[in-house]
Amino acid sequence: MGFATIAIHTGQEPDATTGSVTVPIYQTSTYAQEALGKNKGYEYARTQNPTRAALERNIAALEGAKFGFAFASGMAAIDATLRLVKAGEHVVVSDNTYGGTSRLFTKILANYNVEFDFVDTSDALNVEAAIKHNTKMVFVETPTNPVMIVTDLLEVSEVAHRTGARVVCDNTFMSPYLQRPLEFGVDIVVHSTTKYLNGHSDGVGGIVVLNNEEDAAWIGFVQNSAGAILSPFDSWLVMRGTKTLALRMEQHDKSGRAVAAFLEEHPKVSKVYYPGSTSHPQHALALRQQHGFGGMVAFDVGSFAAARTVLETVKLCTLAESLGGVETLISHPATMTHASVDEEKRERLGITEGLVRISVGIEDTDDIIADLDQALDNI
Ligand SMILES: *Cc1c(COP(=O)(O)O)cnc(C)c1O
Repeated sequence: MGFATIAIHTGQEPDATTGSVTVPIYQTSTYAQEALGKNKGYEYARTQNPTRAALERNIAALEGAKFGFAFASGMAAIDATLRLVKAGEHVVVSDNTYGGTSRLFTKILANYNVEFDFVDTSDALNVEAAIKHNTKMVFVETPTNPVMIVTDLLEVSEVAHRTGARVVCDNTFMSPYLQRPLEFGVDIVVHSTTKYLNGHSDGVGGIVVLNNEEDAAWIGFVQNSAGAILSPFDSWLVMRGTKTLALRMEQHDKSGRAVAAFLEEHPKVSKVYYPGSTSHPQHALALRQQHGFGGMVAFDVGSFAAARTVLETVKLCTLAESLGGVETLISHPATMTHASVDEEKRERLGITEGLVRISVGIEDTDDIIADLDQALDNI
């Protein structure tokens, strides 16, 4: 079965009792038991909920995985994944990962004697050099937020597996339509479903998918024990989202390419970050590893004042954090998503005061470009 067919049907079969074509929202906290010790496989809704289970099957299938676990947010999904690592163990992480991820690792999990090293994972040799006897996990994000650095998943998986470390990939920016990390040897995929999977900027959620049974059993145990589960309604929203994921990603990709090409030619723009551009240093790798380039584009207009002018004079684009929705969102990483990253590191990564990030939506491409054009003219 093709991707769009799986998206619409796997986990999303008509309801067995009523024939309801959409999976019902099982809004319940508990389930009536027929007799003592006899139930229909459902006891309490933190542990099992049919709506959440349907979503977990759906996204696992889209990533080519056996198991899925849905959480209340992308961060809760990442936190649960890190519970595979114990005190005294070591994790290698992409050095410009999502700001919330580095905050969770350095400000919270580091307090429990888990050790983190942040390296530029775009070169697998850096990962190899950082691996120690106690390294249990390599956590990568590709492409990274917001400067779109690509990591070679095949090479990093090879390096990590030599010492038995698991590889986790945050696939939020691509969605399974554009990139399926498990095909390259990655062990665990995490998503903020808040972004492309839900796709309509109306819910927060996260998911972990994987094939290893032992690790899956542990993540399931953590999901039930710590309890940061996705609600039935939010699970249902994400399932509605994945039904159109293929179509939406096609359009995000098409407009993303057009917006990047427009920005590359614009005299007020000094630099464009988009793996689909032939000027991107890892364009060839992106072509090999991804099935497209998506809707995330970052560009530099040289100064804070110029960035502010663009951000405050766009009319169609909405100034907001987040990404992956149908509407075009525009943001300022240095003061918004990456404000918690220290200034020296921001400069090193290229997250300058003049950097602007766009999540290109699925409005008409010409309207998005016309809006950016009039905003850039105000600089
Ligand atoms: C948004 C995001 C997260 C965090 O997800 P939440 O749903 O906001 O908790 C993690 N990783 C990436 C790449 C993201 O964009």
